[in-house]
Amino acid sequence: MNDKKILCFDAHLDISMNAMEWNRDQRWTVEQIRASEKGMTDKPDRERNTVSFPALREGHVGLVVATQIARVVKPGSPIPGWFSQEQAWAQTQGQLQWYRTMEEAGEMKPITDAASLAESLKLWENPSEQTPIGYLLSLEGADSIVSMNHLERAYDYGLRAIGPAHYGPGIYANGTDSSGRLNARGVELLKTMDQLNMILDMTHLNDDAFWHALDVYQGSIWASHNNCRHFVDHNRQFSDEMIKELINRKAVIGLALDAWMMVPNWIRGKSDPKERQVTLNLMVDNIDHICQLAGNSLHAGVGSDLDGAFGTEQCPHDLDTIADLQKLPHLLAQRGYNSEDIDNIMHRNFIRFLQEYFS
Ligand SMILES: [Zn+2]
Repeated sequence: MNDKKILCFDAHLDISMNAMEWNRDQRWTVEQIRASEKGMTDKPDRERNTVSFPALREGHVGLVVATQIARVVKPGSPIPGWFSQEQAWAQTQGQLQWYRTMEEAGEMKPITDAASLAESLKLWENPSEQTPIGYLLSLEGADSIVSMNHLERAYDYGLRAIGPAHYGPGIYANGTDSSGRLNARGVELLKTMDQLNMILDMTHLNDDAFWHALDVYQGSIWASHNNCRHFVDHNRQFSDEMIKELINRKAVIGLALDAWMMVPNWIRGKSDPKERQVTLNLMVDNIDHICQLAGNSLHAGVGSDLDGAFGTEQCPHDLDTIADLQKLPHLLAQRGYNSEDIDNIMHRNFIRFLQEYFS
């Protein structure tokens, strides 16, 4: 492999969801997965995936945060999901078993403590076509956590980060496009996460719950996949005030590649990345905005969310697969970022965060 490539840490990928719900064998190339989906219309991103293990390796995306995800909804909800927490829990356990199977196959390697983080970093100093992708397990939306006993069990199997909310109303907290502080169960969730020493992912919390969670939570905080309200004025994005508070709390923010979070007034299924001039440079704008607010390059990273229920129809048109994240160092250099800044943004900020978290 080309050793001029810079290690990339991607803080948000729904890899198991793609394997188990999109039926994408992540050991295939992106091209093979696209070919397997010819003519399929069940999901808008068929034939347009961007992630698989070979593409991750090609892009030196050696360390990732990989999710479990399952929402609970009421009958009639416009948002898809399960009708009970127990069903959602079972769904996440299936996703977990896929990660385990990929560990057995040598494709992935879990990161749960300082030693396993160091092992993955060592492997990626000299990667080959077989080097396993190091992954920290995260839960996007906590609806599937049936009880605090389930949370403890999840910690024991390796879960280290949780974003309490996703889209709309949630069991513990309401997420994007909704309002309201954490409910009593949400406060209990955060207190138990604190006791277990978990990472609180601020992504998807609505504004009220965001500020409430910062009051309640004493432990480590990050935002795995978020962009700036400065560019796209939507509640899914962080205001400057929120970003400044996250910086005060030593958070790292992963910037995402979902087109609707990169240009205003994106219309799903209608807008076109080329026509709307959606490029990786817009991610650099978001990275730069956070660096300017921080006065340094220590709080921005990559949280691409690629294949997060969208594909090339809704991401930068200068990205064909996740391997194109290797275009970022050059784009950052063009903005005057030096090699230390580029390392910080590509991987070092999240790795430093995890080293401090595990210590
Ligand atoms: Zn998300």
